Amino acid sequence: MIRIAVQAKGRLNEESLALLAEAGISIEESKRKLLARAGDFPIEVLYLRDDDIPQAVSMGVADIGIVGLNEVEEKQFDVEIVHRLGFGNCRLSLAVPKAEEYTSPAWFNGKRVATSYPRILTRYFEQNGITAEIHEIAGSVEIAPSVGMADAIFDIVSSGGTLVTNGLREVEKVLFSEAVLIANKQLTEEKRQVVSQLMFRFESVERSRGMKYMLMNLPCDRVDDAVKILPGMKSPTILPLAQEGWCSLHVVIKENELWDKIEALKAIGAEDILVLALEKMIL
Ligand code: ATP
Ligand code: MG
Repeated sequence: MIRIAVQAKGRLNEESLALLAEAGISIEESKRKLLARAGDFPIEVLYLRDDDIPQAVSMGVADIGIVGLNEVEEKQFDVEIVHRLGFGNCRLSLAVPKAEEYTSPAWFNGKRVATSYPRILTRYFEQNGITAEIHEIAGSVEIAPSVGMADAIFDIVSSGGTLVTNGLREVEKVLFSEAVLIANKQLTEEKRQVVSQLMFRFESVERSRGMKYMLMNLPCDRVDDAVKILPGMKSPTILPLAQEGWCSLHVVIKENELWDKIEALKAIGAEDILVLALEKMIL
């Protein structure tokens, strides 16, 4: 049995639980319980504030956890980053009031910078030889310059909309973050095995993301042309149809290539094209 720490509520909660669900791990009943047992996998879920997840995992309160890389880097607890999960993408950036003339990080010398990520920022300033005053604040960082609390900010950015709303301009992207799976460094062999079982499931879910399963009918003498259009994973599956001279062709295809390929396939005589969702890809 392993214990996974997941954000109790917030931006990572839903996708963390969705990933577990897609991996066949359903969490019993109400989320209000702090600790919940999964029905069909030796795992229990501990719901925490995201800030507390790196520490919980480093202490072994939880064996593994799903948390933003930004929190892992900021908290500096000794944990293993097992896997990048591809959601919760954002960056930690420096932003200045939009009217400021900014040419290089040297601008920050002697400035006051508000942030909830003082350690990452300290490291960045050290690396760039900048001496600035770092003001740690817990939230509403983006309003600090307009209320006179700071000259600039260092905060999470995704679309940049919040910055614009607050009259700020992103000038340095310091850390690119996404949700990561972290693990305690002293897991027993038994627990490691459960973690690798879980990883196997996560990977097959990830592989299927952005992929579709497509099937179509076409004259058998056009199969070679179709294969040229569809340089897929391996070769496509080809089955004979009851109707003489016709074949059914099945292939896994990237969603973003779908429409181009469909045009090309229709042009060589493909008919009855079906596109289906792909849930998991086990290799
Ligand atoms: P908690 O109550 O758990 O402390 P929080 O308010 O600190 O939550 P959230 O705003 O829910 O945190 O964000 C959780 C994580 O989601 C962040 O640490 C970051 O990794 C990621 N994240 C934050 N903002 C964004 C965003 N705008 N777009 C995408 N991911 C984001
Ligand atoms: Mg938090």
